Amino acid sequence: VRFEAALLEAAGADFAIAELEIEEPRENEVLVRVAATGICHSDLAVRAGDLELPTPVILGHEGAGVVEAVGARVTTVARGDHVVMSYASCGACRQCRSGRSTYCESKSDLNLSGHRGDGSTAYRRGEQTIYGHFVGQSSFGTLAIAHESAVIGVPKDLPFTALAPLGCGVLTGAGAVIEALRPPAGSVLAVTGVGAVGLSAVLAARVAGCATIIAVDVHESRLALAAELGATHTIDAREGDLSARLGEASGGRGLDFCVDTSGRPEVITAGFEALGIRGTEMVLGVSPAGSVLEFDPWSMLNRSVRGSRQGDVLPALFIPYLLELHAQGRFPFDRMITEFDSLAAINDAVAATERGDVVKAVLTL
Ligand SMILES: [Zn+2]
Ligand SMILES: [Zn+2]
Repeated sequence: VRFEAALLEAAGADFAIAELEIEEPRENEVLVRVAATGICHSDLAVRAGDLELPTPVILGHEGAGVVEAVGARVTTVARGDHVVMSYASCGACRQCRSGRSTYCESKSDLNLSGHRGDGSTAYRRGEQTIYGHFVGQSSFGTLAIAHESAVIGVPKDLPFTALAPLGCGVLTGAGAVIEALRPPAGSVLAVTGVGAVGLSAVLAARVAGCATIIAVDVHESRLALAAELGATHTIDAREGDLSARLGEASGGRGLDFCVDTSGRPEVITAGFEALGIRGTEMVLGVSPAGSVLEFDPWSMLNRSVRGSRQGDVLPALFIPYLLELHAQGRFPFDRMITEFDSLAAINDAVAATERGDVVKAVLTL
């Protein structure tokens, strides 16, 4: 079957619309007609060459659409279902079997290799192999072959543009707070970096009943949006000593929790220094390769740092939960979306994202 995709021919290039062929789904795969796809930082990291994948490759990992066909062993969705796509997991390793599929032992093979587990791909241009299977889906195309584990059925009354970012950015930020950190009501929580992941953490902190929610960023527009979405304090990271300002905003008691999405070692360190006793910092951001954090071991006796992959969540349970909160008006994550009206607008959407003009760009196909 022929279809169109925004192809990355080589690292560093712009995306180019190409006509390609796609296979029928294998037994554990789902063919999805993509209706909308978000742009996320990992897509930009591959394009920049910071995350290496074989090329030419179809990226995109925040897709939403309609099931066109399913493989013989697929039982969770059927043709015509509306779905959100998230990451793939094997279902068989120790982590998957204990309900920790974000830590699947085959995660890199299934999501970041550019091909299936057996080395094949579902995509061709004439005789040429096209890589894909990115984060279980490769959603920068009008059709996508997704791993069954990456596909989650959703209600049919919701716009695809709003649904698309649920599978990665929104799920990660919200999961970090609600699933991984589980702050007690009344907690003081800071979020350093309020892009899509950070704003989702702000929204989740409000759902969790945090009393003080501090948003940190360098873009005024993002801080203003964070304040509208529930941040009680905002800090421009370019002004003054960040650790001291976080301490002030906490009312002098120190942070109970800090969620970092910036990946910048100096910001992570400032967040750690602002923690109160038994405070926890969670690292979600992608740091430049070779980054090093320095901590005084004594300070680790009563404070801690941990990381999380995709907020520790099971997407099939957590995405419906977020949609329920959204329907109640308690999780208005769609406020951070800027819509671009075609796949061909992808390079404009990428440029706007890199400039910080938009928080979450979503391409509607
Ligand atoms: Zn992502
Ligand atoms: Zn696994």
